[in-house]
Amino acid sequence: MKVKFWGVRGSIGTPIKGTAVREKVRKILAYASPGDVLDEASVDRFLDSLPFSLLHTYGGNTTCLELRTKDNDLVIVDAGTGLRDLGNKILVEDDFLQGRGECHMIFTHSHWDHIQGVPFFGPLYIPGNKFHIHGISEDIEGRLRYQHSERHFPVPFDGLLASKDFIQHQENEAWQVYSLNITQKGLRHPGGSYSYRFEEDGKVLIFGTDAEFKLEDMDSIDEYLEYFRDADVLIFDTQYTFEEQLQRIDWGHSSASIATDIALKSGVKKLVLFHHDPSYDDEKLDEVYLRAVRYKEMMDAQSESNLEIIMAYEGLEIEL
Ligand SMILES: [Zn+2]
Ligand SMILES: [Zn+2]
Repeated sequence: MKVKFWGVRGSIGTPIKGTAVREKVRKILAYASPGDVLDEASVDRFLDSLPFSLLHTYGGNTTCLELRTKDNDLVIVDAGTGLRDLGNKILVEDDFLQGRGECHMIFTHSHWDHIQGVPFFGPLYIPGNKFHIHGISEDIEGRLRYQHSERHFPVPFDGLLASKDFIQHQENEAWQVYSLNITQKGLRHPGGSYSYRFEEDGKVLIFGTDAEFKLEDMDSIDEYLEYFRDADVLIFDTQYTFEEQLQRIDWGHSSASIATDIALKSGVKKLVLFHHDPSYDDEKLDEVYLRAVRYKEMMDAQSESNLEIIMAYEGLEIEL
């Protein structure tokens, strides 16, 4: 199984600002020496040596993941603004342009940052393509239709000419899509959100976004620890720093330190920090990452866990 991140931002799309680009260029120039710009090869070597967030950006699109099974079948999880670019890719690389594409789409919930890419998802407009749309949230079809009301978007939902069927699941149900075995768990979030656990050939990927776990919950989350137990990859809502989470109780999101605690307690191998706050620029996200790593080192001083922590960014791919 493979996962690729097309949108990692929470709440609202967050394009990088021109002033931030200028600041990156200024810092890069300060790093450079004459030998770094002699020819194309030395420029590439120099660029490859720079820290991630100087040369890149974590990305401004909202939640969208591309899962590929071992047979390269496509499953899309959530349809934030990142879905638009994913759509453009599969039009060309899969059979969607010819109207012969088929995929499953799975929704965690229907807040804007998880559905807003749907009206801009090219493959949905092409007759012949088949979409199987899954949700635990009640009436996922109605929620998506509502977004296409003429008050909100010029093309009605029925103007998306691909075939669409809707599959309503229950929280305690185990189901299968292609070679993926799927279970789910409700998360504390305004309006509700669901985490999914994808398993294929013994490898486990858990997507747990839009979830508020607080310090005082830590003694009563055994059922979650069991659900997260030994996951190879846990993608987790870490919208806030710990200090900011304390000021934003009941906003429905967690912090990187709580996520690290949960990952350590449940034996997770790789924790992916996700659903970045729209007010955090790349520099601040570097800080979130470094603080999470330091926190992990503090809590696991003997390095008894195998936990690795990484930041989600647009374009990141992980193979399990
Ligand atoms: Zn969200
Ligand atoms: Zn949400």
